[in-house]
Amino acid sequence: MKSIDDLSGVEGKRVLIRCDFNVPLKGEVITDDGRIQAALPTLKQLRAKGAKIVIMAHLGRPDGAVDPKYSLAPVAKRLGELLGVTVKLSGDVVGPSADQTVAGLVDGDVALLENVRFEPGETSKVDAEREALAAKYAKYGDVFVSDGFGVVHRKQASVYDVAKLLPAYAGYLVEKEVKVLRQLTVEPVRPYVVVLGGAKVADKLAVIDNLLQVADELIIGGGMAYTFLKAQGHEVGRSLLDESKIDACAEYLKQAEEAGKKILLPVDVCTIDPTTLDFGARTLGSEVVVTDVTAIPADREGADIGPKTAQLFSEAIMSAKTVFWNGPMGISEIPALAEGTKAVAKALAQSSAFSVVGGGDSAAAVRTFGYQDSDFGHISTGGGASLEYLEGKTLPGLAVLEEA
Ligand code: ADP
Ligand code: MG
Repeated sequence: MKSIDDLSGVEGKRVLIRCDFNVPLKGEVITDDGRIQAALPTLKQLRAKGAKIVIMAHLGRPDGAVDPKYSLAPVAKRLGELLGVTVKLSGDVVGPSADQTVAGLVDGDVALLENVRFEPGETSKVDAEREALAAKYAKYGDVFVSDGFGVVHRKQASVYDVAKLLPAYAGYLVEKEVKVLRQLTVEPVRPYVVVLGGAKVADKLAVIDNLLQVADELIIGGGMAYTFLKAQGHEVGRSLLDESKIDACAEYLKQAEEAGKKILLPVDVCTIDPTTLDFGARTLGSEVVVTDVTAIPADREGADIGPKTAQLFSEAIMSAKTVFWNGPMGISEIPALAEGTKAVAKALAQSSAFSVVGGGDSAAAVRTFGYQDSDFGHISTGGGASLEYLEGKTLPGLAVLEEA
């Protein structure tokens, strides 16, 4: 991959950059601006070189139609504050407003195109549709810089196709993320412990498969643990369960045992009455009850790891030299159900291991708990992208930069 350090003579040139500004919002308030912060080194460097900057980014899933709810306006404002300039947000993605915004840039200016996912071509599975949109993007730049690490696993117009039309470079964030992930896949310092949580077991089975080869120990918590617990023969009540993956989970448990690798699962969980859960208000209207995994009542849902499990997981983390963590241990958006995730974050922050936190919800959780980026080896801005990298998959947005 060519680095932006190799990029000379950009003064007065238009640099088209893909960033990942898919930040969590509550109304118009950005609740975690980590992804915007992460883009600053590249943007500052290019501004210092006198480039005219045109940024492409997405927010949420507006599904190819204009939806004011998903406007990048809050991002433009926050980015402007952080850079100390006015960020010009165009009123459309590739229409007359964008044309005018880009044409009006002077050296060092920063423009942000409106949410690229307002355009159906952005995420189209039809190559020609993506390519047609990418050709319009390419008119706005003399060179392309890819710095949205959170989207490099997507074959999308502003990530992949546009990189074929302009001289393409990797930004500092993409370079940094790839360097860290490579460290985790090529000879990690052992013992290497991986902690997985979050909601969807189906999404993470492939990575478990790959991690079983590389990691020494796998810790599984969060919503995905219940399919494993079921595979071990436990009843899980109303907890998250993927019936279609029970056999696969049983198979992984068997494989791990044969390979002499440890898979740690919860021994106790915090159960709730799911009918009293209000996601919007982030509240729980009834008591949390701790039970052993052998005794989860039929009418209750496991929504966090229990205290014994938190202790067990923390000890395993503390004895590691390398740790990768993706996915909260419980419904950590709700304070009453964040204790397990807090315990894991604390163990990671206290350990002297090289620690990497990946995933939007996990990163948001550790920041909510008051941790800084410097408390960990690295907080990755990309959940899906980092998992796919660890799975050993080819990421289209990186492959296209390597070919450039
Ligand atoms: P990340 O964004 O860090 O990659 P995921 O998106 O995979 O993490 O998972 C985060 C989601 O998992 C959160 O919305 C959280 O509420 C949910 N979750 C975690 N544990 C449970 C559980 N026991 N039951 C239901 N949902 C859970
Ligand atoms: Mg998530």
